[in-house]
Amino acid sequence: MPIDPTAPYDDDNIFAKILRGEIPCTKVYEDEWAFAFEDIAPQAEIHTLVIPKGRYVSWDDFSEKASDEEIAGLVRAVGTVARAKGLVEPGYRLLANVGENGGQEVPHFHVHIFGGQKLGRMIA
Ligand code: IMP
Repeated sequence: MPIDPTAPYDDDNIFAKILRGEIPCTKVYEDEWAFAFEDIAPQAEIHTLVIPKGRYVSWDDFSEKASDEEIAGLVRAVGTVARAKGLVEPGYRLLANVGENGGQEVPHFHVHIFGGQKLGRMIA
């Protein structure tokens, strides 16, 4: 079901449960600000999700309300994961879906990292 990117944060969302260790995931990386794990239904050879540890519903919420430290931490973590997975050469793609038109399904802000193959041009 599409989510409202401006709704209050729901502590029962699936990524909140992953962060609390209540449901399993394949963890890739963790630091003070961010947590990364493999997408359960990969859409590319490599499909990893990076999330902030803070309670943000969407990119909109995160970019407006997160501290500079949280934003820097998330951005650094995305780069760290991409490098650790050897994606810098030959390249990769980042994606953040926002709200209904963006197709966002999980109401905890997340960045998708796609790689490991040549990716087609796409809008949808
Ligand atoms: P969105 O459409 O941008 O919200 O992406 C949500 C992503 O979360 C999708 O690619 C799902 O496959 C992924 N996902 C949903 N539940 C889980 C889970 O329990 N573990 C890992 N990935 C999940």
